[in-house]
Amino acid sequence: MLDLWFSEFHAPDAKLSILVKEQLYSEQTPFQKIDFFDSETFGKFFTLDGLIMITEKDEFIYHEMISNVPMAVNPDIKKVLIIGGGDGGTAREVCRFKTVEQVDMVEIDERVVRLCQKYFPQTACALDNDPRINLIFGDGLKFVQDAPEGAYDLILVDSTDPLGPGEGLFTTEFYRNCYRALNGKGILINQHESPYYKEYAYEMRRAHKKLASVFPIATVYQFYMPTYSSGHWLFGFASKGLDPVKDADFKRWSEFGLQNRYYNPGVHLGAFALPNYVQEELQKEDEKKQIAEALGWYPKVTLMMNDRLATIDEMISYIQHKGKNSLVEN
Ligand code: SAM
Repeated sequence: MLDLWFSEFHAPDAKLSILVKEQLYSEQTPFQKIDFFDSETFGKFFTLDGLIMITEKDEFIYHEMISNVPMAVNPDIKKVLIIGGGDGGTAREVCRFKTVEQVDMVEIDERVVRLCQKYFPQTACALDNDPRINLIFGDGLKFVQDAPEGAYDLILVDSTDPLGPGEGLFTTEFYRNCYRALNGKGILINQHESPYYKEYAYEMRRAHKKLASVFPIATVYQFYMPTYSSGHWLFGFASKGLDPVKDADFKRWSEFGLQNRYYNPGVHLGAFALPNYVQEELQKEDEKKQIAEALGWYPKVTLMMNDRLATIDEMISYIQHKGKNSLVEN
């Protein structure tokens, strides 16, 4: 009998592979391709455009870290906006905090929600049962643009990578609108890519620079996510004034009485103790991008390579060999 493996490239020459017991479902929606699989080690998992979103085995790590960190920094959070998060795991975790009164969740692709309700009741359970959740199907970018000023205590951007429908959720314009939609003690947490492999680190740096240009406090925190690229993954923490370490109130957080499997106050503090190479990456000015911008061909000009956008490095090497005039303006 043939073995069926799901593989996801984490770098051009490194990938994660999972032996698949069964492919449960596959659908192309107007936004993305959705696939559900079953496996021995990770249980059920689903992918969007070939990238793992969640697995039964490790989703608790991501969802506990996106929700508990801001709730410890401001235990008075009542109004929450989730952008994306179609599997429902973030909504499930936020709803464990009984003091939260309203959770608006804006997901662009209704099919992700409906299919997770069928195949992933473990994460989608709160979407069916909790009356505090208002499920809205639409573009998070537009929703935040139209949101009233100061409407939310917390915005959680549980998005896909900066490709396809998730791209707009990594722009300065989106971060500015989030800033406006947050009140004075507002916190923004966003899916912030990985510091490890080059392409991911590039996206991480770009997101950080944009966030830091909008919010007075902007940093990242780390967690271990076995099925994401390199396993070393980050959330961004941005706020109008609250500091993620100095303002963390673990006494009040412990009064929520939650039984977690990953998050605890020690993990919270350690998550913000960034390894030296991550600190350096975040501080690094993107020299190549500056050069490219100064030459006036980025971002006006992009280069496709094997049906994907070329990286800055690839574009520079292409231009070195072929000359700038070989590029076509967008
Ligand atoms: N934990 C996952 C990860 O980091 O890989 C993210 C999970 S969640 C499934 C991501 C969701 O973001 C998807 O369901 C996708 O449809 C949604 N999404 C992408 N772009 C969006 C947008 N502009 N507005 C609202 N939702 C969006």
